[in-house]
Amino acid sequence: MPIERTLVLLKPDAVRRGLIGELISRFERAGLKIVAMKMVWATPQQAERFYPSSEEWFKSAGSKLLRAYQELGVDPKSRLGTDDPVELGKYIKKKLIEYMTSGPIVAMVLEGNRAVEVVRKLVGPTAPHSAPPGTIRGDYSIDSPDLAAEEGRVVFNLVHASDSREEAAREISFWFKPEEIYSY
Ligand code: UDP
Ligand code: MG
Repeated sequence: MPIERTLVLLKPDAVRRGLIGELISRFERAGLKIVAMKMVWATPQQAERFYPSSEEWFKSAGSKLLRAYQELGVDPKSRLGTDDPVELGKYIKKKLIEYMTSGPIVAMVLEGNRAVEVVRKLVGPTAPHSAPPGTIRGDYSIDSPDLAAEEGRVVFNLVHASDSREEAAREISFWFKPEEIYSY
C-alpha cells in the first residue's frame, strides 16, 4: 500500500480568523506529515482553473446544494432563480472564486497512510452547521447553505481537502512543483 499524499488549502476565512496554527496542529497530531507548504493570494484565474468546469463538477456541486436546501426547507427557485443542478453548480463556482480570492490562503501537501480519506474525515462534510463535533468544519464554524445564499456567497467552511487520489494528484501539481515537495 503506497503512502498517500493529499492537498489541503486553509481558505481565506481560516487565515483571517487566525486559525492557521490550530488547524495545522489537528493534522499534525493525527500523524500526518507536512511535506510542502506555502501562503498564496490566488488570482481569479488561478481559482477558476483550480476548480473544474466540467458538467460533472457543476452537477455534483449543484446537487449538493439542492440536497442541503431540501433539508433546510429552502426553495431554490425563489432563492436563486433555478433548481437546475448544473446552473446551481455554475453559480457555486462563480461565488467560490470570489471566496477563494478574498484573502490569502495556505496551501499544503499532507502525507500519510490513507491520507486522502483520513484528511476528509478530520475536515468533515461540506456544510459546517451539520458537520459533526470533532471535525474542523463542525468545531470552528456554524455557517449553513441557506445563510450563505441569503448573503450571496458560498458556505465558508475553512478548509479544502482533495476528495480522491486522482483529485489529489491533480491538485498537488496545480499548487506545487515537484521540487517544492520534500521527502524527510
Ligand atoms: N459549496 C457550497 N455549497 C454547496 C456546494 C459547494 O457553498 O452546496 C462550496 C463550499 O465552499 C465547498 C466548495 O464549494 O467547500 C467546493 O464544493 P465541494 O462539493 O467540492 O465541497 P467540499 O469537497 O469542499 O466538501
Ligand atoms: Mg471538493
